[in-house]
Amino acid sequence: MGKILVLGAGVSGIGAIQLAIKHGFNVFVSDSGEINEAVKIKFKSWGIIWEENVNNSNFLEGLDWIIKSPGISPNSLSVINGIKMGIPIISEIEFASRYTNAKIIGVTGSNGKTTTAQLTYEIIKNAGLNVGIAGNIGKSFAKQVAEESFDIYVLELSSFQLENIINFAPDIAVITNITPDHLDRYNGNFQDYIKAKLNITLMQNEKQFLLFNSEDTVLGNAIINNPTKAIKHPFGFKIKGSSKTTFKEKKIIIEHNNSKTMISTTSFPLKGRHNLLNAMAASTVGSLFNLSKDSVRESLSNFKGLPHRLEHVLKIQDVNYINDSKATNVNATYYALQTINTPTIWIAGGVDKGNKYGQILPLVREKVKAIICLGGDNSKLIEFFYKVTDVMVETQSMLEAVKIANKIAKRRETVLLSPACSSFDLFENFEDRGNQFKKAVRNL
Ligand code: ADP
Repeated sequence: MGKILVLGAGVSGIGAIQLAIKHGFNVFVSDSGEINEAVKIKFKSWGIIWEENVNNSNFLEGLDWIIKSPGISPNSLSVINGIKMGIPIISEIEFASRYTNAKIIGVTGSNGKTTTAQLTYEIIKNAGLNVGIAGNIGKSFAKQVAEESFDIYVLELSSFQLENIINFAPDIAVITNITPDHLDRYNGNFQDYIKAKLNITLMQNEKQFLLFNSEDTVLGNAIINNPTKAIKHPFGFKIKGSSKTTFKEKKIIIEHNNSKTMISTTSFPLKGRHNLLNAMAASTVGSLFNLSKDSVRESLSNFKGLPHRLEHVLKIQDVNYINDSKATNVNATYYALQTINTPTIWIAGGVDKGNKYGQILPLVREKVKAIICLGGDNSKLIEFFYKVTDVMVETQSMLEAVKIANKIAKRRETVLLSPACSSFDLFENFEDRGNQFKKAVRNL
């Protein structure tokens, strides 16, 4: 019986454990933090051995594999020592992909992963196919492989989940964009982050597809520098070539294999150019699965979007309140500001992951009439923007931020929470931040 060590007892670790047990492995678990009591009860009932609050695992002897959860740094002592001992380190995604024959669609990118993955999933599911969704979206791929029998999986894949890939090759890979994010994890090295994202296509063969956003020059160059065997299919507003997806007169136009499919977006409810790109990617996947264009169009029309992504909360005295708490980097905020066409009271700030605000300066100048800084340390925001806006306020409370915004906003203006930063200084996570915003707005 093989021996596996799973690093991390979170969602992906637990899924990996389940699948490993199913396939007869002797499983050990190591977590550098505390393991939740309910999880320990589960482990006991499964008869597996665990350790907690340990950085350097005691279980490294005689291992066949280490399965590393995405949240664990490649610099953790267990990983470093495992490598020294010659133990292969794989991700949960790699491990799970070895135990399924399902078709796999992998979606990665700096922004738009969840929206694109969810929309792709709905397009395929509404067409009547047996499809599951997993990965970064919060459901473990390995757990589903252990418990379900889907024919197709849509996987949302973060760069962390694409580390430690060996053979994983999705039938269709989608890269929405690449902009600086999580550089704290990559020691400030953008190239390492790009490389992790490009792992999605590293092992693809010549029958598989790579869909990528051709508007994004960083991504375009990355693809040139990381040659792929896959069939390249760009999507964007201006592209040449025979295999591509473009947009004209409110229609998505998918060209591939000498066929041309046009899908109307007039009833697609999400706003913004970025969401059209997401729709183009998702519809292309539908087309590559030969789904009828009417079915794809209907799924686009019925798509509700996701909470905390440019989510419209309320209109109060002709002022729109928009929750974009999931905008945890500058590029997401760029698209939020680009999408809004009224003077805006912008609530921003939080944990800065090495933000470069230059990209949004012109939009802030053009659209933002007041900035409400909502972070533990707002000095960088203040320093960068104080010259371009008339009003700048600082607070550490969401309730206060919303009250101030409400006082400043006039009719036909917008209050936008789009922080461009992570939430962990003042909130549990981006959902908590968005929910607090919505509650404060509803209490106005
Ligand atoms: P991810 O899962 O990659 O974080 P989401 O779909 O959850 O992506 O969206 C995160 C943020 O990025 C939201 O603020 C959303 O409005 C914005 N966004 C969505 N799609 C795109 C895109 N294609 N390009 C840039 N920003 C996007």
